[in-house]
Amino acid sequence: MISRIGVIGAGQMGSGIAQVCARAGYEVRLNDMSAEALDRSLAGIAGNFDRAIGKGKLTEAERDQAMSHIQTGTDYAMFAECDLVIEAATEKEAIKREIFKRLIPSLKADAIIATNTSSISITRLAASTDRPGSFIGMHFMNPVPVMALVELIRGIATDEKTFASVRELAVTLGKQPVAAEDFPAFIVNRVLLPMINEAVYTLYEGVGSVEAIDTAMKLGANHPMGPLELADFIGLDTCLAIMQVLYEGLADSKYRPCPLLVKYVEAGWLGKKAGRGFYDYRGDVPVPTR
Ligand code: NAD
Repeated sequence: MISRIGVIGAGQMGSGIAQVCARAGYEVRLNDMSAEALDRSLAGIAGNFDRAIGKGKLTEAERDQAMSHIQTGTDYAMFAECDLVIEAATEKEAIKREIFKRLIPSLKADAIIATNTSSISITRLAASTDRPGSFIGMHFMNPVPVMALVELIRGIATDEKTFASVRELAVTLGKQPVAAEDFPAFIVNRVLLPMINEAVYTLYEGVGSVEAIDTAMKLGANHPMGPLELADFIGLDTCLAIMQVLYEGLADSKYRPCPLLVKYVEAGWLGKKAGRGFYDYRGDVPVPTR
């Protein structure tokens, strides 16, 4: 029975996961190595709840109750009582492995570890822990409070009890779980990221401007967001990391990350969260940069 949930990484995804878990009545322990990220995260969650109150979807008492479920901190000792810890830190395998190494001494013996990784092998991450049977991929979509899907990915050793507990949690959070096999980038990103990467190539080769590419895909393919706008929203560092995992994991040149995507990440133009990506977000409305 899961009642207390830890979340590691208070970025876009960790904040959203903390928000939906707290709203569903779970006790949440939200961790980040950056105290500033935690402050930003709490302010973001409170802002989302306030907007829901404005729309008549939430009462002030419900907001206060949900906020009271969230405790933040930078120390892993805060996870001692957690039944499940969801890792949602930066998409780098070395970072995640280091987190698990430091996390395990603070965990209950029967605690489940889930990772929100977008692309990294669950089996390989599980093998770096002391509990591959109780380790699973729980891949939420962005923004977590809005998107209905959660991909559940078993590593080779994940046991049925773990799968069933996490599946039940996803349903309790109001999400639709879908099982995906442990292949690079699973289902959604295996299909989505090559399209985004191709859109960046289209820009790189001068086939169209940022605005033309996004408008074409919105009106021509009926996508609710253009691929470059979506890339900015996901984070260009995350997009690049996923393409690298596909390229290396499937050893197929069709997954080669576009050099322009690499350049943007090297420039620190990571998309919406950095104020600049394929659009500039520093003004009142996003402005295309190319
Ligand atoms: P983000 O950059 O917004 O946030 C990452 C957070 O992790 C940062 O606040 C950083 O300070 C923190 N962090 C880094 N190392 C840490 C450590 N050792 N201990 C504690 N905190 C640490 O990234 P994000 O978009 O929230 O992505 C997080 C994870 O979710 C990644 O694995 C990503 O692939 C996955 N994901 C992202 C999306 C998306 O659309 N952005 C969607 C689904 C899954």
